[in-house]
Amino acid sequence: MVPYVRKSFVKHYKKGLKYIENIEVDNEMCKMWGEDKTKASIEDTDIFEYKGAYDYAMEMLKEEIHQAVEGLYHNLNTLQSRSGNQLPFTSINYGTCTLPEGRLITDALLEVSIEGLGGRHRTSIFPCGIFQCMRGVNRQPGDPNYDLFRKALRSTAQRLYPNYANVDWSGNAGYDPNRPETYFSTMGCRTANGWDINGFEQLKDGRGNICPVTIIMPTLAMKAKEIALEKAPMFDENLEGLTIDTFFEILDKKIHEAKDMLIERYKWICSQSPDSAKFLYENGLMAGYNPEEGIESALKHGTLAIGQLGLAETLQLLIDTDHTEPEGMKLARRIEQLFEDRCLEFKNKYKLNFGVYYTPAENLCFTAMKKFKDKYGIIENVSDKDFFTNSMHVPVWKEMGPFEKIDIESQLTGYSSAGCITYVELDSGVKNNIDGLEVLVNYAMSKDIPYFAINVPNDMCLDCGYTDEFNNRCPECGSTNIQQLRRVTGYLTGNYKTAFNQGKQQEVEMRCKHQWTHGILEI
Ligand SMILES: [Zn+2]
Repeated sequence: MVPYVRKSFVKHYKKGLKYIENIEVDNEMCKMWGEDKTKASIEDTDIFEYKGAYDYAMEMLKEEIHQAVEGLYHNLNTLQSRSGNQLPFTSINYGTCTLPEGRLITDALLEVSIEGLGGRHRTSIFPCGIFQCMRGVNRQPGDPNYDLFRKALRSTAQRLYPNYANVDWSGNAGYDPNRPETYFSTMGCRTANGWDINGFEQLKDGRGNICPVTIIMPTLAMKAKEIALEKAPMFDENLEGLTIDTFFEILDKKIHEAKDMLIERYKWICSQSPDSAKFLYENGLMAGYNPEEGIESALKHGTLAIGQLGLAETLQLLIDTDHTEPEGMKLARRIEQLFEDRCLEFKNKYKLNFGVYYTPAENLCFTAMKKFKDKYGIIENVSDKDFFTNSMHVPVWKEMGPFEKIDIESQLTGYSSAGCITYVELDSGVKNNIDGLEVLVNYAMSKDIPYFAINVPNDMCLDCGYTDEFNNRCPECGSTNIQQLRRVTGYLTGNYKTAFNQGKQQEVEMRCKHQWTHGILEI
């Protein structure tokens, strides 16, 4: 957007010259500013030499950007286009542009996020802001965009957004520091593109997730137990080993079936006419599109995602513990390694971007559990609730500190190439502890977490608009008409009780807070 900011600046500067400095603009001047190519930096005061006009232009420019961002947020929170009654899901990745023009835009995106929408300063639900943390750019005092990182943290403390993407994470190795379109970015929920085997390498723009399939692992663990029991009697000391071996056989078979399903769907999608999504192809939104080759020329750069659900319950069934214990983590790593190895193998064999995906499973977490319970009944620590634990997440009811949660999940995030998210739930507002929040985000980044989100209590009075942590009664006007914002899947949800099924609601209610018990001073 830098060239457009420059263009706007020149427009305002010309006005300033005319009305403040009484100077008539001629062609020679326009050339000097690079108006035709919009190449002069707005900070080049040798070129923009008249101070009165300069100050005026800068002020007008900032106002214009602020209003443009306000307009964007407003539109994204009021357009009802997705299936006719839903807001389109939008995410914006930002934070790495160090040019003055780009910094102004990032600053405005954060400023408007903090201000909130409309007269009541409501927290905006979209766009999902994603701040791209990058070493040498915005992580430490002295980095050129450190001030924007601090502002991002303030926005997170008050509005839950932005989340944090890790440009330097190991899975994005080989990106080009001179091409921001290769920096790690993600969709708000977690979906991300890995390295493209069809020539675009770490390019992120113009690519997407073509289709996902999710493997419900606890069901496979139950099958493995049944088969092992038939082969070996209960008291056999090899029963556990046999169960695990059987589980890996079944899982491997299912990963292959997932691959076959994805290829079938991919071929079907590729057989569609470009007219089915004309806008994308005509406007170059899908990178690589060549009309002579058909839409596969663009789709082959996208991701085929092999997802998973319920690692915690799977481990519980197989070895009676989960990955919060070393023994569970050892087996978890073996499982994830199989996913990673197979995806890499398929990627090379079929020349398609298969990737390991830590599925959001917004509905599946409930529907899969319902079927599981119908078949196997209630099993302690597995099906004594209405949902399966999200992907490889630590179970939401496990009590631990935020740093410990990061330590555990960061041992598994590296296996995922098609998207994952790590959350922590903080027990109290952090508006007055931005330093603590900074330590937390930097800790997650240093542990190679690709995508990190922090949940803080966010209550809003629907009568006066006051936003803070106050649960049921507004401290400003005494109203009990309160909305409690929650982040359920990466995006915010206005009222999760109507937006999500029973299983997901229960999951949100069972989430324990990750208390700052292990003090920041220890790190
Ligand atoms: Zn109020």
